[in-house]
Amino acid sequence: MTSHVAVRAAGSPALSVWSRLIEAMLDAVWLVDARTLRVVAANRAAATLMARDVRELLGRGVLELAATPEDLCFWGEVADGLAETIESDTLVRGADGATVAVTRRVERVAGDDGTALYVVVLHDRSAQLRAERALDDSVADLRATLESTLDGILVTDLAGRIRHFNQRFAQLWKMPAELLERRDDDAVHAWMRRSAAGGERVAHDAAALDAALPPSERELLRLDGGIVLERVTTPQRMHGQPIGRVHVFRDITAQLEANQRIQVLSYTDALTGLPNRRLLADRVEGALAMARRDGTPFALLFLNLDRFSHINETLGSAFGDRVLLDVAERIKACVRQVDTVARLGGDEFVVLVHQTDEQGAEAAARRVLAALDRPFTHGDMSFTVTASLGLALHPNDGATLDELLRRSDAAMRDAKRAGRAGFRFHRPRATPTTGPARSRLQLDHAMRLALAQGRFRLHYQPQVDLHSGRVVGAEALIRWRDPELGDIAPGEFIPVAEESGFIVALGDWVLGRAVNQAAAWLAAGLRLTVSVNVSALQFQQPGFVEGVTATLRGAGLPPQWLELELTESCLIHDAPDAMQRLHALAQLGVKLAIDDFGTGYSSLAYLKRFPIGRLKIDRSFVAGLPGEDSDAAIVQAILHLGRALQLQVVAEGVETEAQRAFLQQAGCDLYQGYLYAPALNVAAFERCLGVDATARGDLGPLPRP
Ligand code: C2E
Ligand code: MG
Ligand code: MG
Repeated sequence: MTSHVAVRAAGSPALSVWSRLIEAMLDAVWLVDARTLRVVAANRAAATLMARDVRELLGRGVLELAATPEDLCFWGEVADGLAETIESDTLVRGADGATVAVTRRVERVAGDDGTALYVVVLHDRSAQLRAERALDDSVADLRATLESTLDGILVTDLAGRIRHFNQRFAQLWKMPAELLERRDDDAVHAWMRRSAAGGERVAHDAAALDAALPPSERELLRLDGGIVLERVTTPQRMHGQPIGRVHVFRDITAQLEANQRIQVLSYTDALTGLPNRRLLADRVEGALAMARRDGTPFALLFLNLDRFSHINETLGSAFGDRVLLDVAERIKACVRQVDTVARLGGDEFVVLVHQTDEQGAEAAARRVLAALDRPFTHGDMSFTVTASLGLALHPNDGATLDELLRRSDAAMRDAKRAGRAGFRFHRPRATPTTGPARSRLQLDHAMRLALAQGRFRLHYQPQVDLHSGRVVGAEALIRWRDPELGDIAPGEFIPVAEESGFIVALGDWVLGRAVNQAAAWLAAGLRLTVSVNVSALQFQQPGFVEGVTATLRGAGLPPQWLELELTESCLIHDAPDAMQRLHALAQLGVKLAIDDFGTGYSSLAYLKRFPIGRLKIDRSFVAGLPGEDSDAAIVQAILHLGRALQLQVVAEGVETEAQRAFLQQAGCDLYQGYLYAPALNVAAFERCLGVDATARGDLGPLPRP
């Protein structure tokens, strides 16, 4: 061990003891002769610290080894007898010129022999400094992380004293810089209390910050200026022990606004801004609750525009949207502020009229109808829109929203059936569970019986050529008078027959009867095309074409005197099959017409491909002629289409001379309607045509198809 300790003043027994002593120390130590101020001994740690061999240190003057002005100054003072000790952090220079940070202590010790030494102890601080720097770096890193979040962060200790916060925190709370610089916790808490409307909570929490608080708390704070902060507070722990709480503040103002917008959107109709079905449901629930409390009645008005789809289809949906907006405004103007006008979608509106009875509901319905009576104008277009309304009242007509909606809807359909542009109250139909089902069943049963008993009749409505004014055809329309039920309109029983499948048998009977009649007229010299309505189900029957062929052959009627009226739904359903049938019928020589044209899909594609001879304009379009622009536009469009595709066009439901004149002028080919004659029984039909039953055989020149 002594080999590492070089001893200059060899031979001094005291020094050799010192030397052994310092060799045992962990810190670097030199011994300096007090007279010469030269190093007389140094230990191994000193050699390592200074990166030199011990021998190189021995005999060196301390001033030579001093690396800082402080050390130079100290040793200068020692030399002058002005100083003996020093302890401070300083630097020493190693062999390679690099400096090493140390804590250096110098003490003077006097030996027994009167010699004096300075003991220089150097404690290497570089490891400590490295650790400190690493700590600084990680703190700076954490700080930077803290600062780079979008959340405001405030960290408090268990007593609520502020330990840290980031800039975002100060920014969110709009804290003045001087307040933060003062580091006055009370002032910061007071500021937060003042700015937050929910300030009481903030104060409470700040005071009660301890580990007993629930692990995480979330609350919303609305600050002055409308900013909404979400605060999430979680306990902060170190080594498992609670040491404080971390409060994270997030600005959720925009998010809340977006949520509110979504709320608004989910409760209102995007086009009109009116309440939608959901909001209506809420309002009706409210009205029901009120009714339960004090028995206040209320009404639902279910409104559906008449023939709105035609406005949409012919004038475009943008135009249709504007009409809906106008309609919404007009309906709103008819009811009180407390009532709700909702749009369910399409052209369906529902009005909730509070605190009203039948008379009040009727008055509201009349106001709505009157409001729609005034013509609408868009650009240079002027037209009217009518609506059908159904009324249902609580408590009489229903106990729930569903029931009331269903019943007002059904009443609205009643209004449509009764000719549209009006209103109907819900009328109870027997008992709700068996009522409608039984009446349909009853009707179906009665129909089957009527066919067996020969109670059905065919009436014929004349079809008139608009150029010549002559009757060139007749549409066969079925009639049924039941001994118990009375006259039943085809509009009522045909749908039931279509649903039950009975229409197939009924249709066969109609076809047979009409073909026989046509043959009889032809034999009597009356050259009339007889038109027969064919339902979709009937048309789709296997063997339909064969049946028609057999019927014609059986009656001896040349096929060109028979026309089949098909609806658009016949053609859309199973189109390839329909196409095949149509071609087979055309091949046979039978004429084909599309009935109620314009009310269905009106697809140009099938019109072009299918061997159709005629289009029948639905009478709902004829009704508004010639005054209503939209009807006029639709009729003109159908006529153009007919010309382009070389189809004849027949107008249905012509009731006035003005309608007839308009159609004639617009180039329509044929018309039928009450203006000329309704559907008549055979005798009346023949009378109408001026046919003398006794002299039917020699009728002079007759209209040709
Ligand atoms: P559709 O084929 O469109 O028949 C025209 C309807 O308009 C007939 O009603 C006719 O009486 C009525 N009408 C004729 N001229 C006028 C008028 O000037 N003004 C008004 N307001 N109405 C007029 P109807 O006879 O009640 O028949 C209704 C529907 O029942 C028919 O509409 C047709 O779809 C169906 N239908 C009638 N007979 C048969 C049939 O034998 N077989 C099938 N499958 N359906 C039939
Ligand atoms: Mg028809
Ligand atoms: Mg029709």
